[in-house]
Amino acid sequence: HMLMKKPLPADSLHQHHAVVDPKQLIGEALHQRVEAIDHEVCEPGDEDTFYVADLGEVYRQHLRWKKNLPRVKPFYAVKCNPDPQVLRLLAGLGTGFDCASKTEIEQVLAMGASPERIIYAQPCKTNSYVRFVKSVGVKQMTFDNADELYKIAKLFPEAELFLRIMTDDTSSLCRLSMKFGAAMDTTEALLVLAKNLGLNVVGVSFHVGSGASDPMAFYKAVRDAHTVFQQGRELQFAMRTLDVGGGFCGDTFEQMAGAIDGALDEFFPAGCNVDIIAEPGRYFVSAAFTIACNIIARRTVEDPTLDGKGYMVYVNDGVYGNFSSIMFDHQHPVGKILRRAGQTLYDTPAANPCCSGEGVEYSVWGPTCDGIDRISESTRFHSILDVGDWLYFEDMGAYTKCSATQFNGFSNAHDVIYVCSEPGAQALLGL
Ligand code: PLP
Repeated sequence: HMLMKKPLPADSLHQHHAVVDPKQLIGEALHQRVEAIDHEVCEPGDEDTFYVADLGEVYRQHLRWKKNLPRVKPFYAVKCNPDPQVLRLLAGLGTGFDCASKTEIEQVLAMGASPERIIYAQPCKTNSYVRFVKSVGVKQMTFDNADELYKIAKLFPEAELFLRIMTDDTSSLCRLSMKFGAAMDTTEALLVLAKNLGLNVVGVSFHVGSGASDPMAFYKAVRDAHTVFQQGRELQFAMRTLDVGGGFCGDTFEQMAGAIDGALDEFFPAGCNVDIIAEPGRYFVSAAFTIACNIIARRTVEDPTLDGKGYMVYVNDGVYGNFSSIMFDHQHPVGKILRRAGQTLYDTPAANPCCSGEGVEYSVWGPTCDGIDRISESTRFHSILDVGDWLYFEDMGAYTKCSATQFNGFSNAHDVIYVCSEPGAQALLGL
């Protein structure tokens, strides 16, 4: 037996000073880790699923944001991926943070971010958390109903309130407006109540739904927000900030940014004395994280409709783990081959799935005993995969690790190996 090489230390920041191809950097980190494992003798857990995070990608998204939405200050939605190095980088880049709970607020404050850089963007808050945010000086928070206003009047009347309005979220991946947001025919009454309770409304927020695909949704929401700004000003509120929420995706960002920019020019033109903020989550992290999973078991399926033979492969992560995004975030992650029988294939044509009708068919299953724990119903590869081989999945940074459970006793504390493909980010991170 070969001795197992020591796996790379978890959560360590790898130093890369040269400007390198991000794919190459990620590939090296994946390979180093996987090649250090001797599957014949390794300890339980040594072959666990792990991530490679390229902080340079987060940095590039920041530059892209500044280029396309220079007037809008992002408050990163921590819920999407509270990775400590991502938060540290964004804090260094000067973003704000959208937090939904006491834990998220504590995590951001512990990094040295000032309370003014936080918005507690949860319209239905826990009483004790409201007392907590008051004690630490986090004043900005959202509301969308009368009961919440009574709560805030009792617990934190000095809070700086954003009225969250309902949006048309029919085009988005994860709809939110059935749960949150004040309908436009209720906003005036809510503002009057806030006034009567002596509260301090400072702005309007909305969220067009996570993974939005219709730029018009942003346009209409900005237009509605403008109506509510006017209502607030008539009631002598000092309306100063518009929060355009999250929902931005990497693929369609420029298009969405264009719609927002146009709407801002029309309803909140430069010089109108309104600050614009946003709460992007997936935009910053989705493409920055790649996950690698080990094939732990295989079942051969004899099926004449499958040209003879197909396989069910079982990997050591699934919908109860980091692939929770399949259930909660409507994702369809597609695996590629990282290593096959000692051969590393990352980022080669042979790593990619092939078209229907070609190659061998696989269904990819998670490690728990539940039948719904399936990552993919059908993926075809030109290769024969077996136990001990590795698959990798890209774009796994959003709504994955944060919503993984420990169902069936599987760990949800997976290692993250950090790389950084941007010198600017390296400098900020002190590398
Ligand atoms: N802000 C709020 C209030 C949210 O509920 C969410 C996601 O659910 C976000 C921001 C982040 O959304 P996204 O990741 O689509 O940008």
